[in-house]
Amino acid sequence: MIALEKITKWFDDRRLFNDLSVDIVEGNVLCVVGPSGSGKSTLLRMIMGMEPPTQGRVLFMGKDIYRLKPGARAYLRRNIGMIFQDFRLVPFLTAWQNVGLPLKAVGMPISRINARTQKALDAVGLSQMSEKLPASLSGGEQQRVAVARVMAMEPVVVLADEPFGNLDKSSAALVMQQLLSLNKRGAAIIVATHDIEIAEQMNAGVVDLSKGVEG
Ligand code: ADP
Ligand code: MG
Repeated sequence: MIALEKITKWFDDRRLFNDLSVDIVEGNVLCVVGPSGSGKSTLLRMIMGMEPPTQGRVLFMGKDIYRLKPGARAYLRRNIGMIFQDFRLVPFLTAWQNVGLPLKAVGMPISRINARTQKALDAVGLSQMSEKLPASLSGGEQQRVAVARVMAMEPVVVLADEPFGNLDKSSAALVMQQLLSLNKRGAAIIVATHDIEIAEQMNAGVVDLSKGVEG
């Protein structure tokens, strides 16, 4: 479904991913592992269409995502959900409004937005917090709002950048369970993590960036 084809990325004189190729198959769970600075976040941004490779191609359903027509690009955006390391919640919107925002942006009818928002906030255990602003939620709760926002989109690909980094054990377990349940419904999940044990716990394939990195 998504293929990275012989990817190399240069930042000034620093090279990441030396001719890296990765196949992301529908319904897969994949962990991108490596130490801080190895390029995990860059790799996710590349799949999201936000960071073109210096060499190589990123294909979505066989098409180079950096050469898509605007309509196809919008389709891609709707079908790839990203959970950012720093959450990126809108500070002046409530948890409820944050979850519904991407659905509103694609013009979904309000009744459907409300139903999906309710379901997603329930799933992450935050239905009691729906009227709160991000600033009055803990880091872990904000993380779960970010997860709910992606769940509500029902994307075919979920990209998650260190989704357990800010969470205590029980919230981490809850978020992992939710990611795996998205996977059970058919979504491919790609998790960037410095913690190799996560890959085992999620029964995931591994892309290891700790090799082939030159600084
Ligand atoms: P990770 O997520 O594994 O910690 P990143 O993908 O954030 O790694 O970064 C990998 C390397 O690329 C780092 O050395 C970082 O400084 C560099 N880098 C990332 N984005 C940029 C950018 N926009 N401009 C220059 N260097 C960057
Ligand atoms: Mg990172």
